[in-house]
Amino acid sequence: MFIADKLQSWGIAVHRGLAGTGVVGTVHGRDSGNRAIGLRTDMDALRLTELNQFEHASKYPGRMHGCGHDGHTTMLLGAARHLVQTRNFAGTVHCIFQPAEEGLGSAQRMVSEGLFTQFPCDAVYGLHNWPGLQFGTVGVRTGPMMAAMDSVSIEVTGKGGHGALPHLVVDPVVICAQIITALQTLVSRSTDPLSAAVVSITCIQGGTAHNVIPASVRMLGTVRSFSPTVRDALESGVRRITVGVAQSLGASATVDYQPLAPSVVNAAREVEVATRAAASVVGAEHVANDIDPVMGSEDFAFMLAARPGAYVLLGQAGSANSCMVHNPQYDFDDRLLPIGASYWVSLVEQELPLE
Ligand SMILES: [Zn+2]
Ligand SMILES: [Zn+2]
Repeated sequence: MFIADKLQSWGIAVHRGLAGTGVVGTVHGRDSGNRAIGLRTDMDALRLTELNQFEHASKYPGRMHGCGHDGHTTMLLGAARHLVQTRNFAGTVHCIFQPAEEGLGSAQRMVSEGLFTQFPCDAVYGLHNWPGLQFGTVGVRTGPMMAAMDSVSIEVTGKGGHGALPHLVVDPVVICAQIITALQTLVSRSTDPLSAAVVSITCIQGGTAHNVIPASVRMLGTVRSFSPTVRDALESGVRRITVGVAQSLGASATVDYQPLAPSVVNAAREVEVATRAAASVVGAEHVANDIDPVMGSEDFAFMLAARPGAYVLLGQAGSANSCMVHNPQYDFDDRLLPIGASYWVSLVEQELPLE
C-alpha cells in the first residue's frame, strides 16, 4: 500500500490492519519524553462521478476524491517525513491514517479494535479542508463543532394496482408525500428554535410505470443534531410520525434508524494548542477560534469521545474550484498542502517540546 510503503521508506515504524486498511506510523522524538499524541487523517473517496475535466480528475467513474481526503493524506505524509527527519520534539507521535470516513464508521472501528491501547495517546488531533472559510484561515471552536449524524431507511407498504383505479389500492406514493411533509415539523415545531437540527429525506424509490401504483416505496434520509436530548427526540419522532402517518392512511411502515456518529466535541486545552500551532503557520489574525458549529458530521467524533483533542477546519474559499465538498466539481486546493503539513509539525513541536 502506498502510504505504508512511503512511511517505511522514510524509516517510520508502520502498523497495518486496524479497521481493515488503517495504517499507523509511529515517530519518536529526539528525547523520549513522557507524552504521546495522535494526528489523524482520513483517506477515502466518495461514490460520486467527478465532472471536472482537468488532468488530475478521477479516472474512475463513480469514485471521486470529492472531500479532499487525498489532500489530507498528503499533508500528514509530508508532516511525518519532516518529523522523522528532524525529530525536533520529545515524546511520541502516532500518525493515524483512517479508512472509510464517509459514513462507514471506521474511526469507531479503529478505536474498538484497540487504536488507543496499542498506540496510547494523551490527545488526538484532526483537520479538514473547508470551502466555507476563506483560504488560509483556520477555524476551530471549543465544545460541539460538528453535528451528530444518524441515517434512516423507511419502507412504506400499501397495496399496488392500476393507476386509474386508486380506490382499489393503498397508494404508498401519496403516503410518503404525507410522511415527508409531517417529518418537517420535527425541526420546525418540536425542536427548541435555539437548538440546531436537520431532518432531510434524500432519496425516494418506488414505482415502475405511469399507470401502475406500486405496492411499496423506500425512502432514505439523514438526521443531524448536537444535543443528545434533541438527538433522542428526533429518533423517536421519526419513528412515531412515519409509522403513525402510514397506519392512519391504511398502510404500514418500517423504520431502520442507525446512529452513525456522535457530535465532534473539541476540548478547551487542545483547542488552545491547535490555535497556537495554527497561528504560527498562518498568523494569529487568520485563526478564528470561535467559529459557528457546522451541521456536517465527521466520524473523528469517536476518537474525540475516547481522547481529548481538537479538530480544525482549513479554509479554501476563493480557490478556483471552491464549491462545497461532495460536489462533483469540487477540487482540493493544493496550496493547502504546505499549510496543513506545517500545522501538523508546529502542533507536534509545541505539544511535545524539547526541554
Ligand atoms: Zn471529508
Ligand atoms: Zn466528506
